[in-house]
Amino acid sequence: MLRGATELCIYKQRFMEPSQNIAIPEHNSSFLSVLQCKCPHCGKGKMFTHTNPYNLKYTLDMPKYCNVCGVDFEPEPGFYFGTGYVSYGLSIALTFASIIVAFLFFGLSLKDNSLYYWIASNAALLILIQPVMMRLSRSIWLWFFKHKLMVPANKEPLA
Ligand SMILES: [Zn+2]
Repeated sequence: MLRGATELCIYKQRFMEPSQNIAIPEHNSSFLSVLQCKCPHCGKGKMFTHTNPYNLKYTLDMPKYCNVCGVDFEPEPGFYFGTGYVSYGLSIALTFASIIVAFLFFGLSLKDNSLYYWIASNAALLILIQPVMMRLSRSIWLWFFKHKLMVPANKEPLA
């Protein structure tokens, strides 16, 4: 009985022939392709089925495999649970950037209500940008583990 992703990895290492999954040593993606939510292996295939992240019903819909090179976009069950850490980091970075902008350009001060305006604007900004952040987090997370990406054996690598 396999219980988690780690056990599954160990199972794969021990019991599967190396030819059952094809490891891919070379990657052609750039940091720009991460920002564009393209495949972290080939840099060309789209990670999401729908282009517009604000089409909320389909924000996180992803194809199982890259339609250009064929890598599996979900290397382990529950792979994308870790994107919460990336999303948190991005939100903190954005909050820091916005407090610096507010301080430099709008005269953020403790003597008036400007701090409350900043808190409200920052919260609104974080909510509005959430669909983009969710996609970007998945893209960064997948890029972070790009050396683990495989083309399943029943699928020929296309590129
Ligand atoms: Zn690809």
